[in-house]
Amino acid sequence: MCKLCETNPVYEFTNKRKLCERCFINYFNKKFLLGIRKYHMISKGDKIYYFESKNFKTEVLKKILNFFKSKFEIEILKIKNKEEFLKILKKENKNKKKIKLVLNSSIDSESQWFLDKIVYGKTDRLNNLLPVFESQIKPLYLFLDEEILLYGKLNNFFSNNNYKERDTHTKRINQFLNELEKSHPEVKRAVINSLLKIENKK
Ligand SMILES: [Zn+2]
Repeated sequence: MCKLCETNPVYEFTNKRKLCERCFINYFNKKFLLGIRKYHMISKGDKIYYFESKNFKTEVLKKILNFFKSKFEIEILKIKNKEEFLKILKKENKNKKKIKLVLNSSIDSESQWFLDKIVYGKTDRLNNLLPVFESQIKPLYLFLDEEILLYGKLNNFFSNNNYKERDTHTKRINQFLNELEKSHPEVKRAVINSLLKIENKK
């Protein structure tokens, strides 16, 4: 950690650890690569498809993947929707394992979906919420929305700086989680950890 951290922090973790701009970007890049390795998300020669959207998470995902493109030796391609992806998957049947759909899911979105499914008793399809499921990969899985937004801003990824950390889900679950997080920091992370534990035991 550099000397500047204490005097010029841009981010503070719930355990009060502070990071300066440079250290925060380093932390993000390392964790991003670690997650990809840990969950075997990407391998050499993969074709990675993404949906274009105005969401800040998609913007960050696109830019960071492009940044590491030559390191991974991958192709990054834009598609309109899931139907288009399924068509490509069918066409490339032989190379199926090399075709991936990248999603912008984060701790926030997945913890919300997880609680939502539990509350409404739809626990049969939880594996949809894992970092990797069939052709789907989620490289931002281990990050909070606020971390993703800050990373994008520090790197000048956004052409208009109007991106705000906004809720992807308007459901009541979301409000409930955000309230809970205020009095119990790390609750979203804890939800994701318990999801990973349940699915690993299956
Ligand atoms: Zn620093």
